[in-house]
Amino acid sequence: MAALIELRKIEKMYRMGDVDVRALRGVDLDVEEGGFVAIMGSSGSGKSTMMNIIGCLDRPTAGTYRLAGRDVSNLDKSELAIVRNRTIGFVFQSFNLLSRTSAQENVELPLLYAGVSGRDRTQRARHALERVGLGSRMDHHPSQLSGGQQQRVAIARAMVSQPRLILADEPTGNLDSRMTVEIMAIFQELGAEGITVALVTHEPDVAAFAARVVVMRDGLLVSDERQVPKPAKQVLPIEPPLAVDGASGTA
Ligand code: ADP
Ligand code: MG
Repeated sequence: MAALIELRKIEKMYRMGDVDVRALRGVDLDVEEGGFVAIMGSSGSGKSTMMNIIGCLDRPTAGTYRLAGRDVSNLDKSELAIVRNRTIGFVFQSFNLLSRTSAQENVELPLLYAGVSGRDRTQRARHALERVGLGSRMDHHPSQLSGGQQQRVAIARAMVSQPRLILADEPTGNLDSRMTVEIMAIFQELGAEGITVALVTHEPDVAAFAARVVVMRDGLLVSDERQVPKPAKQVLPIEPPLAVDGASGTA
């Protein structure tokens, strides 16, 4: 079976005044359908550039990108937008939710743009919010939710169009470790269900939850390892530890 993502000799050149920046210098990558892959690498190594190409937000300067078997390397902007809307959900570090709008309405938005009718929209948004554990928070506005909950709303919004691929660029960059685990639990579940999740992170603690870790350096992939993912689910129900007064002791 063909991979969902197939990058061949992908190059990306940015022109900065008179200087060419070679952000990607010949990347080969296959990602199969389903599962959870982390992309690591230091700042400037080309992670976002690669994610933008994988996400059909930008085109490579050279090379071939096949998404779900279709060569999308040379599509124009409007064709890319169609592929993107049908196939890909995005999750960002800064959540990108509309602040004066309920969780429910935020999640409905992509369906509104896609012309889905009112009742269907409401049902699908509710279902997506229930999936991320926010069934009781649908009417809350982002300011009434924790960072982790806001990011779960953003994941529900990414999922509501039933994408085959979810791309997340530093999705836990603004979250504490407990909230990070909540997000990782959801990504692991989605991966197990056959959705492909690709996540950019510079934190090894976050990459530990993925089944595969790809490392970039200077616009190239320099390492690609499979691993046993750290289970996020078991960690989820544990409450934060009680504050202990170390001086008084318990003996
Ligand atoms: P990362 O996400 O790993 O930090 P990026 O993909 O953002 O790396 O950047 C890779 C290289 O490409 C860097 O040298 C960066 O400065 C350059 N770059 C990224 N985007 C642009 C752009 N729009 N114009 C010019 N140079 C860019
Ligand atoms: Mg980046």
